[in-house]
Amino acid sequence: MTITRQRPSSIHPVVMVTGGAGFLGSHVCDRLIAEGAHVVCVDNLMTGRRSNVAHLRSSPRFALIEADIATELPQIDVDEIWNLACPASPPSYQLDPVHTMLTNVMGMKNCLDLAHRTGARVFQASTSEVYGDPEIHPQVESYRGQVNSTGPRACYDEGKRAAETLCCDYQRTHGVDVRIARIFNTYGPHMDPHDGRVVSNFIVKALLGEPLELYGDGSQTRSFCYVSDLIEGFFRLMRTATVSAGPVNLGNPDEFTMRELAEVVIQMTGSPSKITVRALPVDDPKQRRPNIGLADTLLSWKPVIPLKEGLSSTIAYFCTELWLAQLDKEH
Ligand code: NAD
Ligand code: UDP
Repeated sequence: MTITRQRPSSIHPVVMVTGGAGFLGSHVCDRLIAEGAHVVCVDNLMTGRRSNVAHLRSSPRFALIEADIATELPQIDVDEIWNLACPASPPSYQLDPVHTMLTNVMGMKNCLDLAHRTGARVFQASTSEVYGDPEIHPQVESYRGQVNSTGPRACYDEGKRAAETLCCDYQRTHGVDVRIARIFNTYGPHMDPHDGRVVSNFIVKALLGEPLELYGDGSQTRSFCYVSDLIEGFFRLMRTATVSAGPVNLGNPDEFTMRELAEVVIQMTGSPSKITVRALPVDDPKQRRPNIGLADTLLSWKPVIPLKEGLSSTIAYFCTELWLAQLDKEH
């Protein structure tokens, strides 16, 4: 297939962002547009929303192409490919597990093939899920993980592990410049209120005065990173001159139990909601916290937004989202 080589008459880079209409991808698009790049957002809108990039549509440097990266990637001459396409919440990636696996593997291969043909640098949004239910705590990049390859989370965990393998093989065999971020749980504006992740679930339920559902006894832990901190880490990783030193953990090392999170959300929203208990999903990791020593050394990066500060902006965002949804329903 031929590559569209005609470029905009500008010194600014042409950048493809797969999954650019999703939570994290839309923040990447924002920053790239602010930097002056030409941005081609490729998204099948499975979990992404047009509203996340609506404010960019008026920019002559922004284009949204509706396409499925598991099938085919638009062949455009690009300088960078940011691969964020993949549903990220357990309910959404388990909805069509075969497609999730193909998005991770075939989608990654399509990105790497395009990079090989154009010389583009590739950013891969990998995940702390590559560590599975970890026995090493906090998780360091050299830990190889404990993943159940046949369980309901495997389409995502093993898909992301295979994607990392492809990245490293294309780097070794074809010299493709890849940057792999192992992202730990991140939250903030542009999250879909209904995508099923814990921060959005808890805040939305609390704002609606409905019970917050704690899966299991709530003693499992996660470490939550505010989106602006994560995006800063992304750009430092992508823009460092250092040739990739392998995957880099990006996340906030402050660790909380899910019960603590539920209590903080109820307190911060002033909600009358109660906490109810539901069965723990299969293979739900018991603990998760990043060791970010490598990101600190390589990128001089550390998150700076504490949980309560990040939750405060996120609660304000969800308030507006729920209000807009209510207006939509009534008018
Ligand atoms: P998200 O679900 O909000 O965004 C994913 C985007 O990818 C959506 O816009 C969706 O429509 C699109 N997409 C999915 N499959 C596609 C396909 N086959 N072709 C084209 N587009 C497709 O999720 P997010 O939180 O923004 O996550 C972005 C990336 O970061 C994902 O790859 C995810 O695995 C990774 N990640 C996120 C977190 C987190 O806490 N947010 C943690 C670890 C890893
Ligand atoms: N969780 C919960 N209530 C919810 C959603 C999730 O108690 O409404 C728990 C879930 O079982 C997990 C943790 O919160 O232990 C984080 O879940 P999430 O889906 O956000 O991310 P992941 O499991 O992928 O880290």
